Amino acid sequence: MNHQQQASLKSQTAEKILTGDRATGQLHLGHFIGSLQQRVALQHRYQQTILVADMQGLTDNGHHPRRVADNILNVVADYLAVGIDPLKTRICLQSAIPALAELTMYYANLVTVARLQRNPTVKHEIEGKGFGASIPAGFLTYPISQAADITAFKATLVPVGDDQLPMLEQTNEIVRKLNQIVGEDILVECRPLLSEMPRLPAPDGKSKMSKSLGNCIYLDSDDRAIARAVKSMYTDPNHLRIEDPGCVEGNVVFTYLDAFHPDSAYVSELKQQYQAGGLGDGTTKQILTDCLQTLVAPIHERRAEYMADKAQLVALLKQGSEQAQEEADAVLGEIKRAFGLKLF
Ligand code: ATP
Ligand code: MG
Repeated sequence: MNHQQQASLKSQTAEKILTGDRATGQLHLGHFIGSLQQRVALQHRYQQTILVADMQGLTDNGHHPRRVADNILNVVADYLAVGIDPLKTRICLQSAIPALAELTMYYANLVTVARLQRNPTVKHEIEGKGFGASIPAGFLTYPISQAADITAFKATLVPVGDDQLPMLEQTNEIVRKLNQIVGEDILVECRPLLSEMPRLPAPDGKSKMSKSLGNCIYLDSDDRAIARAVKSMYTDPNHLRIEDPGCVEGNVVFTYLDAFHPDSAYVSELKQQYQAGGLGDGTTKQILTDCLQTLVAPIHERRAEYMADKAQLVALLKQGSEQAQEEADAVLGEIKRAFGLKLF
């Protein structure tokens, strides 16, 4: 299919996708397998908006705004380096779209504090972040701002991991409530596009790979960093000698081979050999190192080229944000009109 045919097919499909990432660090292999690859495929079929969520990043970095600001262009460069095409996907910056903050303020009146405190994902994150009694109001209310992001673009499809399902539930509650109050269907409900990939563990196998835990293999990693990370990977602690039978379940090297090696028949063979005995961790780690270096090296290279021209990244983000602001403004305008607030 050529460009024109793709564009016309996309304009015929009503489905819009909204997705995004907090600008809290560089993107890593977990993002690659859990969301980026899927977005690259989806951009050919849907009208996709990707939001660099800097304001959401500030909800737990309010006292360190530079931590977020310094990562905005990192995230954009990561997108482009993995193949997200700005001609097919709109990339925009949350803080550059004031309509999103305004929508958040209106929606906040339709959600109770008790409902926010019951949101299982927020509850879990609050415990994990150790806020104690000092929970930032912005953090507790970030599901409302996510509802604003989704509804501002009338997105009907939101690619998520299962931990994000409570956010979509809250979004749809707001949609129903607002439509009911104004007596017309201004906002549209969304549904999840669930990722089939389980969360990628960190090399130590103890927790999921996560920007804020600092346990990542980044898309920007060089060959040495990858080799080092694979060397440190958790395998089967009882597999002491090469000839011993080894266990592949919970063995992070095999989890990664399953996720990233292009030849699944070859990985199955390796697993059989490993389980039977006669295949050492040194060999499996070398195979994984080669595989990850082959995957990441071109991304690393392209990323460096994009980062060398930051003005171009800024221009791209500005253009995407201006388009997004126009769209979000239209939804905001409809709501203000329906509320009776549009006096001039
Ligand atoms: P933070 O530590 O700031 O929360 P993070 O590394 O957990 O950052 P997010 O920005 O919270 O990354 O994640 C955005 C999306 O990326 C998730 O909803 C999920 O789809 C995907 N993702 C993140 N980490 C992983 C992972 N380890 N495995 C698979 N997918 C992941
Ligand atoms: Mg996270």
